[in-house]
Amino acid sequence: MATSVGNRNGVHKAPNLRTSSSFKSKLPPPNVRRSSPASLAGADSVSGRVRVAVRLRPQNAEELVADADFADCVELQPELKRLKLRKNNWDSDTYEFDEVLTEFASQKRVYEVVAKPVVESVLEGYNGTVMAYGQTGTGKTYTLGRLGDEDTSARGIMVRSMEDILANLSPETDSISVSYLQLYMETIQDLLNPANDNISIVEDQRTGDVSLPGATVWEIRDQQSFLELLRLGEAHRFAANTKLNTESSRSHALLMVQVKRSVLGGDDDFSLETQNRSMVGNLRPPMLRKGKLIVVDLAGSERIHKSGSEGHMLEEAKSINLSLSALGKCINALAENSSHVPVRDSKLTRLLKDSFGGTSRTSLIVTIGPSPRHRAETSSTILFGQRAMKVENMLKIKEEFDYKSLSKRLEMEIDKLIAENERQQKVYENEIERIRLEAQKHVAEAERNYVEALEEEKTKCQMDYMESIKKLEEKWTVNQQKHAIVGEIHMGAGGEDVAELEKLLQNETCLRKAAEEEIHNLKDQLLKLSKAELLGGNADGFSLHEVLEEEIRQKNKLEEEVRVLRSQLEQLSMEGNQTRSYPDRANSGNPLLGLDCLTPLNNLRSRNDTNGEKTSITNLHEQVGLQKILSLLESEDANVRIHAVKVVANLAAEEANQEKIVEAGGLTSLLMLLRRYEDETIRRIAAGAIANLAMNEANQELIMAQGGISLLAMTSTDAEDPQTLRMVAGAIANLCGNDKLQMRLRSEGGIKALLGMVRCRHPDVLSQVARGIANFAKCESRASTQGTRGGRSLLIEDGALPWIVQNANNEASLIRRHVELALCHLAQHEVNAKDMISGGALWELVRISRDCSREDIRTLARRTLTSSSTFQAEMRRLRIEV
Ligand code: ADP
Ligand code: MG
Repeated sequence: MATSVGNRNGVHKAPNLRTSSSFKSKLPPPNVRRSSPASLAGADSVSGRVRVAVRLRPQNAEELVADADFADCVELQPELKRLKLRKNNWDSDTYEFDEVLTEFASQKRVYEVVAKPVVESVLEGYNGTVMAYGQTGTGKTYTLGRLGDEDTSARGIMVRSMEDILANLSPETDSISVSYLQLYMETIQDLLNPANDNISIVEDQRTGDVSLPGATVWEIRDQQSFLELLRLGEAHRFAANTKLNTESSRSHALLMVQVKRSVLGGDDDFSLETQNRSMVGNLRPPMLRKGKLIVVDLAGSERIHKSGSEGHMLEEAKSINLSLSALGKCINALAENSSHVPVRDSKLTRLLKDSFGGTSRTSLIVTIGPSPRHRAETSSTILFGQRAMKVENMLKIKEEFDYKSLSKRLEMEIDKLIAENERQQKVYENEIERIRLEAQKHVAEAERNYVEALEEEKTKCQMDYMESIKKLEEKWTVNQQKHAIVGEIHMGAGGEDVAELEKLLQNETCLRKAAEEEIHNLKDQLLKLSKAELLGGNADGFSLHEVLEEEIRQKNKLEEEVRVLRSQLEQLSMEGNQTRSYPDRANSGNPLLGLDCLTPLNNLRSRNDTNGEKTSITNLHEQVGLQKILSLLESEDANVRIHAVKVVANLAAEEANQEKIVEAGGLTSLLMLLRRYEDETIRRIAAGAIANLAMNEANQELIMAQGGISLLAMTSTDAEDPQTLRMVAGAIANLCGNDKLQMRLRSEGGIKALLGMVRCRHPDVLSQVARGIANFAKCESRASTQGTRGGRSLLIEDGALPWIVQNANNEASLIRRHVELALCHLAQHEVNAKDMISGGALWELVRISRDCSREDIRTLARRTLTSSSTFQAEMRRLRIEV
């Protein structure tokens, strides 16, 4: 709305001037927001009226001449922001603008007044528009587009805006992209790519935003690249207009600058460095502000009025008219708050939808010339500007969460952490390796030390022990001789011997205790050390452990021997007592009785060389009575039990006693000992006794009937001492020779028990095992021949063949003979042949048939081989001849 003021005769008073105070008071302070910038985009908005400045071009050369005799049609009052448009010599209209820029206004000032506030808003995330409107030749392009190549002070708004934008952005996080377009006859052409001459406008249905996806977009990094872009655009504009036979004043030029800035929660000085510093733990995405600046250099406004040419010119005029008049209509509608704004009438108004009546901060500069000849144009330009001043925009910040940049930032952080983690992992592993090696070293050293100490201790114990034994033996010999010579026991002397022996034993016990304690201590320390350094030296720990266990075994052995010594002592004292009671039988108190029991190998055969012992046992037996001795087997006192079982074992070694023992229930008691006692000594002696009893066929059945096989098998599993195993194996071997017991023996685990005992490689044990197997094979063979049994050998069934084959050529002749015999027995039955061939027994048989030193066995083997068709066939195949 124009505010016309009566102004006569140069009196520059304006009594009727309506100073537009109404809209002035409505002006919001620039850049004041209603809510915090951290709030979501679009949530805050401020009213922002379109600001309008008027700029007067200085008189050009032509005007200086042509208008020399006429006064200018305008008079400016910049301090009052007023413009007077002369109607005639005595009358003028006064208009008020936001800024009035005289012909002397510098380009810098024009930029600061018109464009700078808009550029600042764009940097804060608002859209902004700077538009020049005016008659051709009044300085629109001068104001907006001058590059200032020759005179830098002549730089126009476009160049200065970009300078300001670049100065305020950080290249790491922000970006600027530019499109440059021309609108001519309702066609949008790309000034950065002339081939792109019909770009369409796309409208976002949801937000209403318009965009030109077909337009070239240039990323701007520096001012130089922007200037190049402007030059290129200008050149293309000139070429395009030449081709279209028009001039630039007839087209609208639009420069679109998209500014994207990354800010963290409204922190405007947010830089990459601050981001890096706050990386860890900060998962708040930065805000992305997207301000768009549009600089519009409109076609000359005179075309609206000066249409009417023919042909192309007419069309052109219409089109230019169309866009410019549509813009005028929209601005009128907005100024009058009309309910309908015809934005869609032209492409220009669609492109500038946000600039007028939208969310953009908009500055309009209207350019006028001073010539009175163009008074009408000037007047219409001023009126356009006045109407535009009434357009209110609602500024809205274009802000959104920048998840892309957050994800990029987090990715960077993750990569950094991964690298760091890898580094630390390596350091950690190295440290672990170092500690492990060190621990290993320590363990090895400690182990060495302990092994040495243990070794030393062991040697010492052994020496002491040997010493004691020697002394005991000497004592005993002396004692024995005394008995022999004197023929009768002197009470006091016997007592002395016993006392001395007791003393020796006590010494021995003390020594043993000390050794035990030492071992215990060492064990404790070792355990602690092993625990502490478990990580490192496992393997070493094991070997140490083995040494320790060996040591414990040694200790147990020592203990056992001490126990034996103790029982010897008892025996001796008992004998002493007896001798004292029966001085005429002094010789019978043979203390070897007990010692002999420790080597019960002899028990398996009759002993003729121990007359003294036999006599002693017989005496004991006669004096105490068998029943009484057997009852002692169940005595509470372990020593008595040991003693009793030894006596029974010795008695059982004599065939004459065997029946009596069994009749008196001795066998049952002995089996009971196997069942009940953990003590291996008792079990060993009991097993020896049972082995002796098992020589008798009648007893064999009794042993079986009382579950003897399972008891013996159980004992064989638990026992560690080769002598125990030998007793058990001997007992089972005896049972193996009984034809009637074959099936039961096998079903109760007899064969398996025998095979289990070969784990102990002691030749005595192996020899008993071999004897058992040979016995069993012989019985089987006999049964097969008699036709009482068929099928594969139970020995083969129970897996004895591999051991048999392995030991067929054992270097111990006793073992070898038994095994050879077993092989011959097995081979006599065709049903075993296949297994024997696949188990490698054929080769052994062939060897026996050739090399066995005993002729009977050699012959047996040969006969067996020749009588078996299966062996024959195989031998033919292998080209073996016997
Ligand atoms: P438009 O783009 O409006 O058609 P131009 O910017 O091309 O007008 O200006 C026409 C002529 O006037 C050019 O020669 C230009 O240099 C000159 N001119 C315009 N404005 C000024 C000014 N403020 N000071 C000096 N010369 C000017
Ligand atoms: Mg121009």
